[in-house]
Amino acid sequence: MAESAFERLRAELADVVDLRGAAFLLTWDQATMMPPGGAAARARQLALLKQLAHERFVAPSVGRLLDAAEAEVDAAGLGEHAFEADYLRVTRRDFERDRALPLDFTRRFHGHMATTYQAWTEARAADDAARVIPLLERTLDLSLELSEHLGAADHAADPLIGRSDHGFTVATLRPLFVRLREALVPLARRVQACDPPDDAFTRGPYPLDQQFAFALERVREFGYDTRRGRLDPTHHPFAIEFSVDDVRITTRGRVDDLREALTCTFHESGHGMYHQGIDPDLEATPLVDGTSAGVHESQSRTWENRVGRSHAYWTYAYQKLLRAFPEQLAGVSVDAFHRAMNVVRPGVIRTRADELTYDLHVIVRFELELDLLEGRLAVRDLPEAWHERYREVVGVAAEDDRDGVLQDVHWFSREIGGAFQGYTLGNVLAAQFWDAAQRELPDLEGDIARGAFGALAGWQRQRIHRHGRRLDPLDLIADVTGGPVDPQPYLTYLADKYGGLYPEAR
Ligand code: ZN
Repeated sequence: MAESAFERLRAELADVVDLRGAAFLLTWDQATMMPPGGAAARARQLALLKQLAHERFVAPSVGRLLDAAEAEVDAAGLGEHAFEADYLRVTRRDFERDRALPLDFTRRFHGHMATTYQAWTEARAADDAARVIPLLERTLDLSLELSEHLGAADHAADPLIGRSDHGFTVATLRPLFVRLREALVPLARRVQACDPPDDAFTRGPYPLDQQFAFALERVREFGYDTRRGRLDPTHHPFAIEFSVDDVRITTRGRVDDLREALTCTFHESGHGMYHQGIDPDLEATPLVDGTSAGVHESQSRTWENRVGRSHAYWTYAYQKLLRAFPEQLAGVSVDAFHRAMNVVRPGVIRTRADELTYDLHVIVRFELELDLLEGRLAVRDLPEAWHERYREVVGVAAEDDRDGVLQDVHWFSREIGGAFQGYTLGNVLAAQFWDAAQRELPDLEGDIARGAFGALAGWQRQRIHRHGRRLDPLDLIADVTGGPVDPQPYLTYLADKYGGLYPEAR
């Protein structure tokens, strides 16, 4: 019997997924192992692999196979959520989106981003924003061009947001961000006005190797599988996957702050477990990924914050920490350590922000992205606009551009637009998912205080991870929470938690 069009499509796209995996491996190496001299050749090699994957994916033969496979599946009368139907829905969407990009554009775009990334690493080291302004102007032009290629929308950011958070638009996100800003800015100001607890003991010194080893042990307990993953240090931590059986995480730490390696590693383990938890049957298909940036981030935030900064968790883990660092933590109680994990201090670095003020950093970036795309802000004014917006929203501004506009890799490695909303959506969703898990798991807090993480990890795998991209984000959210995205559970959680830690701020 002749192979079906669906099977031929699946075989063809398995190659595309593997080409992308190979490009990811080069990216991982670039960020962890590669000597600086490798940069120029690596940029070429990455551009080539991405171009090959793109060409293979948008080939006319793939379009014909898609048409034929859709007709087959229609004729077979499979249900709406049969594997084949999910595969074709997601693949058709990706195909139309990628096919809308002319090859010439893709080549210019990737070449420009590789150059910009390298320039950013140098500009950041030299605190020289002027060096990347012309590159960033070109990035903005390319981002607007990208948005146009992707198709008509109410807002230039919509197609860019839709690529990472399908189903979300400026029209739905702006009110959500306004509501968060209105509630969080005053709460953060009240907490920031309180005396912070004594956390001098977090400054160590704590040898980095010991910190990384401790953090790795903890995330293995969470359920991150090191037979199918590994942990390495980098400058800007991330998780990355080459298959469901090789999902790597990275971290960073400070000798003079114990918290950074812990929170970074917990965070990335949440991303890693998401990918390791995807149904193995989805391997080498376009469905083998998280369903959206926001849902991905909800998983990392859950392990970083809901677990990793909770009193219940440290009831369990603090004895282990004391054994690892007996001198540095001599005489420090678990309560004092828990308060130190949740210190709120105005800061200028997003990735080092405390849980309460984290979203203020995202709000700044989200608003600036929209201003740039709407033409209300010129790139040359961006460094100063960054500082102004920080004073207004976060309550503090950096003294230089290194910790200002040059702080994040995003605008220097990808388009402007759609890069940041996922972080805050992740926090909002983490709270909604936590409430759902609490309804379904009899003693979630008790489990965590006992170091029994299997119930939570298993719940996440069952309700979220295994689906990969089979469920679209809004469908998954409705399925798990019973409703739409709602910031209220998150705002309630923050008000309760920080009202408890800082009673004067209530
Ligand atoms: Zn993350």
